[in-house]
Amino acid sequence: MIKHIDIKDKSTCCGCSACKNICPKNAIEMISDNEGFLYPHINEDKCINCGLCKKVCPILNKKLNNTFEQKSFIFQNKNEECRKNSTSGGFYSAIGELIIKKKGIVFGAAFDENFIVKHDKAKTKEELKKFRKSKYVQSDLGNTFKEVKNNLDLGKLVCYSGTPCQIAGLKNYLNKDYENLLLIDIMCHSVPSPLFFEKYKNYILKKMSATKILDINFRDKSKYGYKYPMITIKTNNGTYSEGVDTDPYLRAFFGDYSVRPSCYNCQFKTKKRVSDITIWDCFNIGDIDKNFDDDLGTTRILIQSEKGLKFLNQLENIKLKEIPIDIAIKNVKEMTHSVNKNKLRDKFFENINDDNLINSYFPINIKTRLNSLIRKFLSITGMYSFFQRHLSQMKRWFE
Ligand SMILES: Cc1cc2nc3c(=O)[nH]c(=O)nc-3n(C[C@H](O)[C@H](O)[C@H](O)COP(=O)(O)OP(=O)(O)OC[C@H]3O[C@@H](n4cnc5c(N)ncnc54)[C@H](O)[C@@H]3O)c2cc1C
Ligand code: SF4
Ligand code: SF4
Ligand code: SF4
Repeated sequence: MIKHIDIKDKSTCCGCSACKNICPKNAIEMISDNEGFLYPHINEDKCINCGLCKKVCPILNKKLNNTFEQKSFIFQNKNEECRKNSTSGGFYSAIGELIIKKKGIVFGAAFDENFIVKHDKAKTKEELKKFRKSKYVQSDLGNTFKEVKNNLDLGKLVCYSGTPCQIAGLKNYLNKDYENLLLIDIMCHSVPSPLFFEKYKNYILKKMSATKILDINFRDKSKYGYKYPMITIKTNNGTYSEGVDTDPYLRAFFGDYSVRPSCYNCQFKTKKRVSDITIWDCFNIGDIDKNFDDDLGTTRILIQSEKGLKFLNQLENIKLKEIPIDIAIKNVKEMTHSVNKNKLRDKFFENINDDNLINSYFPINIKTRLNSLIRKFLSITGMYSFFQRHLSQMKRWFE
């Protein structure tokens, strides 16, 4: 009987790489499929049928046994430069700095020199900066689980952040609680395909008549504030900047075209998590606390363990306020509900190598421009949050 993992339905693998990391014979390699997502492949010649890869898989073995009474907070990093350059309130920089002060190691998602998203480590405050900002691409975890374990076993303090499925994979791989490990998960809509990201980067280079990308900011707050999703890409021939209505990459992500099959049936969308701390955006901060609503970004925090609370209480140079849990998680659909598969999703990936893919799926027309103008107007006038709930209805009026 075959005891190794055998993925027949792609929605049953989130690509966490726990199986690859646990394999005692290095018989598992993570290989991209035709959609650009990594899946484990078994080298039968090396495999000894020990079954460890099956036992470690967080989808086959859910281990959520969290009895901690959760607490929720709103958070801002008082370092304005940091907050401007973070997705929301700059929480990961604050926690990272604390870990580094304690001589620990921080892991998170960063761009490499070719703007490929990979998990990496930081040991200094300067290195920490690469983890700022959400990268809307599935991150390649490489051998980071093994590195984490080696450091934990040496007694080093380690902090690791990732999507809920990545954190569940790491926790299963470690298979024991370490006092010197702090786990942070992000609230996760879904993760887009690295292959589509490559296609998009080439599209931008062509559009800008450029040869090199210099910087990518998926959540640029500088023009229209924190609440308007806007992507800005600096190239060696100028800067590209578009919002969620007109940029094809954001449209593919938020329209649920370009995402991993497991995200349509996510097993990790629960209120309680295996992490110590869960972080996410807070676009409706004006409804929660007007004193925090400066349009520079606020992070919502859900504390999932005593350890998480202990670390939160040690943070310095921050603005923090406890809020009731029902307020913190009100209308946070992405916490408990998977995204709906776009009916064109499979066709989109069938056409992924077409030269005209982006223009045919995401044309820019009067409707998209109008949507964009409405959102920008609302952002500039500070009415975005108020109208967010009614935006789809407003768009229908103009159709
Ligand atoms: C793919 C993705 C989907 C998200 N979906 C939602 C959502 O539906 N709703 C919501 O409220 N928030 C979502 N977030 C989280 C949110 O964008 C911010 O991470 C959160 O607001 C914290 O902001 P911050 O300023 O405190 O964090 P920052 O200090 O900016 O730190 C960013 C953190 O995110 C991690 N990270 C960045 N990119 C990735 C990645 N590709 N994979 C794994 N970890 C990554 C970094 O390691 C770091 O810990 C998503 C983030 C990502 C990456
Ligand atoms: S069964 Fe054991 S040896 Fe075979 S791939 Fe899985 S972990 Fe590796
Ligand atoms: S979910 Fe993770 S552990 Fe399970 S098969 Fe996929 S990569 Fe391996
Ligand atoms: S939606 Fe679920 S499966 Fe997809 S990346 Fe997020 S946590 Fe993982």
